[in-house]
Amino acid sequence: MITELTGLTLTQSFHLMRQGHLSSLELTRACLERMDEQNPVLHAFLTPTPDLALQQAEAADRIWAAWRKDASTPLPPLLGLPLAVKDVLAVKDVRCTCGSLMLEHFIPPYSATAVERLLSAGVVILGKTNTDEFAMGSSTENSAYGTTRNPWDTSRVPGGSSGGSAAAVAASLAPAGLGTDTGGSVRQPASFCGVTGLKPTYGRVSRYGLVAYGSSLDSVGAFAHTAEDVALVFGQMAGFDRRDSTSADVPVTPVRLDGGASLKGLRVGVPAEYFIKGIQPEVEACVRKAIADFKALGAEVKEINLPHTEYALPVYYLIAPAEASANLARYDGIRYGLREDSASLGEIYRLSRGAGFGPEVKRRIMLGTYALSAGYYDAYYGQAQKVRTLIKRDFELAFQDVDVIAAPVAPTTAFRIGDHSEDPLAMYLEDVFTLPANLGGVPGLTFPVGFDQQGLPIGMQLMGPHFREDILLQSAHVYQQHTDWHKCHPQS
Ligand code: GLN
Repeated sequence: MITELTGLTLTQSFHLMRQGHLSSLELTRACLERMDEQNPVLHAFLTPTPDLALQQAEAADRIWAAWRKDASTPLPPLLGLPLAVKDVLAVKDVRCTCGSLMLEHFIPPYSATAVERLLSAGVVILGKTNTDEFAMGSSTENSAYGTTRNPWDTSRVPGGSSGGSAAAVAASLAPAGLGTDTGGSVRQPASFCGVTGLKPTYGRVSRYGLVAYGSSLDSVGAFAHTAEDVALVFGQMAGFDRRDSTSADVPVTPVRLDGGASLKGLRVGVPAEYFIKGIQPEVEACVRKAIADFKALGAEVKEINLPHTEYALPVYYLIAPAEASANLARYDGIRYGLREDSASLGEIYRLSRGAGFGPEVKRRIMLGTYALSAGYYDAYYGQAQKVRTLIKRDFELAFQDVDVIAAPVAPTTAFRIGDHSEDPLAMYLEDVFTLPANLGGVPGLTFPVGFDQQGLPIGMQLMGPHFREDILLQSAHVYQQHTDWHKCHPQS
């Protein structure tokens, strides 16, 4: 049962704690109980960390008590609030599997910058959540530890690859969670699970301590029920980090959530290329309705074009596997993770990688190695990089005329477990609307805008100019003040 406590947003819990009506320990215990009850069904958490969580909650309550005695005590902005962390982000001394047998016993000796900053802001870590192996997938079915289930219909996928965090938030096991988005892995599961999810601008949140998938695409993002909560988490983890060479030294624009309840002056672009044949009619209808709601709230809506959108899928599925094949070369049975012993070094590599990686990861390594090999590099990887520039330019041109771009997140609602697992291309097609933002490096935010006839959530995505997460979060916040989709919870 979702209790009064587990149903609270971060913002609500923080206010209650501030007023002395709720302790971090009470809230954390409620989340852990909910996890005990629901995780056997949903399989959202791979490694719950109840001892760590209770310890952190007690420490948070001590700071609350000190602040209550002396109001000049600094109050960390997320003090005592529970958080789920996708199992590709390092949390010091907690197993980090990346959904892979390769890292079944890997314990990182340090925390990712994003995690470290959130810990300094006072969060309580509930555990590590399920993911497609090395974040490669759109359903969480590629995890070596079993599929996560969608809380709205447990015969369906939660989306992926950050399906564990999305499901944990949707089912109120955690009020917020971290995910990563290389080609849609925050936005698509947020849409499938009916929660709000942000993929920040590339370089906005440090990748230090994030296990690399596609290094030029990877972005650390967050899930919660509301844009307001996502803004809270994002605000604490964003910003320059010298430990990540691609971290952007650009000041983080504060998200203003007190700007009133109107969208007057907001210019919304609707790209024709995102309303293609094959999209589930209810998805299109709900997204169009939400765009009409934006207009009713004062936004100016215009049709735009992003002419190179159709190339995003082939370009991504060359660049991401190419980068993955290079990043995954480090798992050789010698330095990290699983080792299958043998007398010869070559055999150790072959056996360890053969046993440690699952089929999708092997497919990507083969694709990527091929695309990078001498003689093919220019034809595939080089060509893909050029087209990527055109996709990025599409966004830059569009943002000369509009402030945000509104579009569907995925062509369908959550599909059934097993529906695409035999057909990698059908699975890749699920990403058609999310990949362009990663290729262009622009931020994207998903939030719920309705349900299909089977009661499955539908999300809409807003994309914005580089480093303007604030516009996306502010706009969604205004929309959420006028609608209730984000307040809907799955039964049980
Ligand atoms: N589904 C895409 C892939 O499989 C995106 C994954 C992600 O964003 N991590 O590569």
